[in-house]
Amino acid sequence: MCRHLGYLGPAVPLTELLLAPPHSLLHQSYAPADMRHGGTINADGFGAGWFAPGEKDPARYRRATPMWADTAFASLAAATRATAVVAAVRSATVGMPVVETASAPFAEGRWLFSHNGVVRGWPHSVELLAQRLPVTDLLTLDAPTDAALLWALVRHRLRAGQEPVDAIEAVMLEVAVAAPDSRLNLLLGNDELLVATAWWHSLWVRPGPGAVTVASEPIDDDPAWVAVPDRSIVFASKTTVDIRPLDPGRQEQ
Ligand code: GLN
Repeated sequence: MCRHLGYLGPAVPLTELLLAPPHSLLHQSYAPADMRHGGTINADGFGAGWFAPGEKDPARYRRATPMWADTAFASLAAATRATAVVAAVRSATVGMPVVETASAPFAEGRWLFSHNGVVRGWPHSVELLAQRLPVTDLLTLDAPTDAALLWALVRHRLRAGQEPVDAIEAVMLEVAVAAPDSRLNLLLGNDELLVATAWWHSLWVRPGPGAVTVASEPIDDDPAWVAVPDRSIVFASKTTVDIRPLDPGRQEQ
């Protein structure tokens, strides 16, 4: 299962967030601590999307190779500062292709998205949900993977003007009902907010001052890391972190 990370705060070099910490995403790509059910390493690709200081739109870098094997990214990350980041290392679910376009973050406009987990019974379990999407969305999925479909479902709601926290919660809960036992840690971010769910996978948050980091696993031994209870949704800005339970009874009809 993949590992992901979101950050909002003062500008920092990507290296300091993604590569240098003792349990960075780089370390988690070959030595994750809390994978739970399936997968041992995250070697099927990686990606990072980030906002450089003063930029309105994010830049993105994705590869289908292990993070540790990409020296070009290490060089880029040392020279690049960001005020907001969504990044992930991938362990492909069996049957799903190892291609660059299956690596998170998925992106549109200012949005960056990642999924850590698996949709059970894929793809039949979520066929009815997929049919709610315009056929062009299905024909232009980033990749034939559960994560790419989840992104298309979230993006469809964002395009319709739904609030990001409502879009994430609605998609998470409708997929949890359509495909029980799915693992649905979703992460959506831009340069102002992060929304993340904990649904059968680990999730941690480190608040402030003036910054917030959300991650599948703490990237260092800072005592400020807080474990997010399973079946919760996190809504964070640079100055606020709100965590509340997800209630399957609230899913839309
Ligand atoms: N199942 C998804 C994929 O294969 C998400 C990655 C993961 O968490 N293993 O792309």
